[in-house]
Amino acid sequence: MMQGTEQMKQVAIIIPAYNEAENIDANLSLIKQHLQTVPNVLFTLMVVDDGSNDETAAIVLRRSESDAQIKLLCLSRNFGKEDAIHAGLAHARAYDAAIVMDSDLQHPPALIPLMIEKWQESFPVVEAVKKSRGGEPRSKQLLVRGYYRLFNFFTELRISGDTDFKLLDAQVIEAYLQLPEHNRFFRGLIKWMNYPAAQLAFDVPKSVRLDSTWTRIGLFRYAISSITSFTAFPLQIVTVLGAITFVMSLLIGLMVLWDKLGGNAVDGFTTVILLLLLIGSVLMFSVGLIGTYVGKIYDEVKSRPNYLVDKKRSNVENTEKK
Ligand code: UDP
Ligand code: MG
Repeated sequence: MMQGTEQMKQVAIIIPAYNEAENIDANLSLIKQHLQTVPNVLFTLMVVDDGSNDETAAIVLRRSESDAQIKLLCLSRNFGKEDAIHAGLAHARAYDAAIVMDSDLQHPPALIPLMIEKWQESFPVVEAVKKSRGGEPRSKQLLVRGYYRLFNFFTELRISGDTDFKLLDAQVIEAYLQLPEHNRFFRGLIKWMNYPAAQLAFDVPKSVRLDSTWTRIGLFRYAISSITSFTAFPLQIVTVLGAITFVMSLLIGLMVLWDKLGGNAVDGFTTVILLLLLIGSVLMFSVGLIGTYVGKIYDEVKSRPNYLVDKKRSNVENTEKK
């Protein structure tokens, strides 16, 4: 029997949770049901409580006391999903692989056995890819599509349809944790590292919650941050805009001169106002963009940790430092 457990692979399922008290208990049970069918793998469900201000942590802690398969990693405040994932991965270094999934069942646990199969076929990354978006309003779908177009165009990383629902082999986890940057976009970085990846398509079910925990503003900020962390291309747009404005000013300048030399009364005000508006707006746009990057540099230079663990309330083995 001892031998049997030695051959077992250890896989952590990392589940970031923010104010999920209502459903987390039932969802954990459901996820566990799907794990029973997988042979030769020992699963640990690591719930990362991302500073919930409801009972989420207490519920998971209570469960973990009677169920060795469930662990709680408790962050000291709400750091956001990206950092919760990072914290989970840093505590999963002792495992052979980790699966990251949402806690609201929008990442169907039925896919886990298939992911494990692909992993055993020796794919270091298995990504679940969306075929459809579960009952999201049209307006959001349009915005999301626009965002992906932009991201693809700027960065040449194809991430449309990608989700955070992924299996990562230990070597990939290690490589991810070695990356020095603080501002992280999990999906983009995994693509960027470019390990051989298997894809599994799925339809996103409706969330068990009524609302997404993301606000529109939150998503917008996430979109801007994910693009600016991967490319400085927007800065080049400023250069292009500058060039276009320069050509236009030259043309207008020539026209003005022509009129003046011809002795015609110059329609001065229009030209001046047009130029002012044009140059003013381009300047403001550039300053805004530069500001975004300066902000990023500031963030990286600060070297502030991405997350802080509330050690008293967590019962996950600490593997942050190897
Ligand atoms: N989440 C988190 N921290 C946050 C916001 C969300 O850990 O600050 C978790 C949340 O509990 C869920 C997952 O991230 O498990 C995805 O959140 P949600 O379902 O609201 O996102 P959506 O489905 O709209 O992408
Ligand atoms: Mg969801």
